[in-house]
Amino acid sequence: MTQQTQQPEVNIGLVGHVDHGKTTLVQALSGSWTDQHSEEMKRGISIRLGYADATFRTIPGVDPPECYTVEETGPDGEGTERLRTVSFVDAPGHETLMATMLSGAAIMDGAVLVVSATEDVPQAQTEEHLMALDIIGIDNIVIAQNKIDLVDRERAVDSYEQIEEFVSGTVAEGAPIVPVSAQQEVNIDLLIDAVEREIPTPERDETEDPQLFAARSFDINRPGTTWENLAGGVVGGSVVQGKLETGEELELRPGREVEEGGSSEWRPITTEIRSLQAGGRSVEEVRPGGLCGIGTGLDPSLTKGDALAGQVAGEPGTLPPTREGFTMSVELLDRIVGEDEGSVEEISTGEPLMLTVGTATTVGSVTSARGDEAEVKLKRPVCAESGAQIAINRRVGARWRLIGIGTLQ
Ligand code: GDP
Ligand code: MG
Repeated sequence: MTQQTQQPEVNIGLVGHVDHGKTTLVQALSGSWTDQHSEEMKRGISIRLGYADATFRTIPGVDPPECYTVEETGPDGEGTERLRTVSFVDAPGHETLMATMLSGAAIMDGAVLVVSATEDVPQAQTEEHLMALDIIGIDNIVIAQNKIDLVDRERAVDSYEQIEEFVSGTVAEGAPIVPVSAQQEVNIDLLIDAVEREIPTPERDETEDPQLFAARSFDINRPGTTWENLAGGVVGGSVVQGKLETGEELELRPGREVEEGGSSEWRPITTEIRSLQAGGRSVEEVRPGGLCGIGTGLDPSLTKGDALAGQVAGEPGTLPPTREGFTMSVELLDRIVGEDEGSVEEISTGEPLMLTVGTATTVGSVTSARGDEAEVKLKRPVCAESGAQIAINRRVGARWRLIGIGTLQ
C-alpha cells in the first residue's frame, strides 16, 4: 500500500459491465477500496462514483513493461521511482446508474474499459458505457480483458477476438487490449504501460478562470458536534480549468433555491476556500487533474448528502450563466443500446428527458421539439456555457436510456 503525496494530474474512468471487475482493478492499482459508502457495501455495487489515487512507478534498471509497478519498494528491496499520480473514477456498472456514470465521464481524461473474459462480448453496459465515452468524446481508451485466471487459453483467445470485433468502428478501435487478472494482480505492469502510452496528461492553461465541477458534497461533522467546533461544508470535485487557492473567494452556481413572497429563485452561493485537499493531503492550491476536496465556510447543512453535487464553483463573477431551461441541438442515436434494442423515436413536445450537463443531472420537460432542435424547461437549473455537451436520456420501460447527445445553444 503506497502513501499518496502528490496531486494526481489526470482522471481515468473505469467503465464496463457490473461485476466485470472495475472496483477490484482500481484496488489492484491503488491499494484502496473505492466501495466505501455503507449502502454500497450492502448492495455490493458502486452506487456513488468512487475515487482512488494511484502513483505509477518504475523499478530502476528493469526494462519496460516489467519495470512498471505501484509499489514503493522493488523486488530487490530498493526504492522505486515515481512516474506520475493518476486518479481513478470508478463508475458503477449497474444499469440504472447510467446518469451517474455519465456525470463521472464529464471529468474523465481517458478511460479503462473493463471486459470480463468469462462472458460473451458485449454485455449491455459494456456497450452502453462505450457509447457514452464516444458521445462525450473520450477517445484515450485502454481495454482490460479481466478475469483471465478463470478461463482457459482457448476461451481467452475467443474473448480477445470478440472484444476486437466489438470495438471496431467505435471510438475504442485500435485501443490496446491487455489481458489481466485484477484479483490475482496478473499483468498489472502491462496495464500501467498501456495507460502511460494511451492516456497522457492533458496540457492545461493555468491562467484561465478557475472552474471546478462538483461531484460530491459532505458534512464532515460527527453528530452532536457543538457549534464552536463545527467544520464548514466540504465540496468535492474536479478542477477542469485554471487553479484554486486557499483564502480565495468561491462562488457556486446555480447555488440555492430561495423562497420569497410566494415565489422562488436560485441564487449563487458565495463563500471562501478555507482548506484544500488533494492526493490525500492538505495543499495550498489545486490544478486540473484528480479530485479534490474544498473546505468552505458554508453551513454544513448546505453541503450535506451531496446537496451541491452537479454545481460549478469558481471565482465570483466568472462562472457560466445559470439556466432554468435552454435550447439544444440534438443528435440522436440510431438505436437504444442494451438488451431490448429498439430504434430511437424523434423527441416530442411534452416528453420528460433526463439531461446530464457537466456533473449535473436534471429532468427537463420538452417545451418545443422540431427536427434536430429541442427546447427544454428544467426542474433544477444548471450552470453551463453555450457549447456544453448534454447526454440525453429517455424513459423506456422502467429506466432511463441514453438516446443521444445535445449541444447547448
Ligand atoms: P465491478 O462491479 O465491475 O466493480 O466488479 P468488482 O470489482 O466488484 O468484481 C466483481 C466480482 O468479480 C468480485 O467478486 C471480484 O472478486 C471478482 N473479480 C474481479 N476481478 C477478478 C479476477 O481478475 N479474477 C477473478 N477470479 N475474480 C475477479
Ligand atoms: Mg464496482
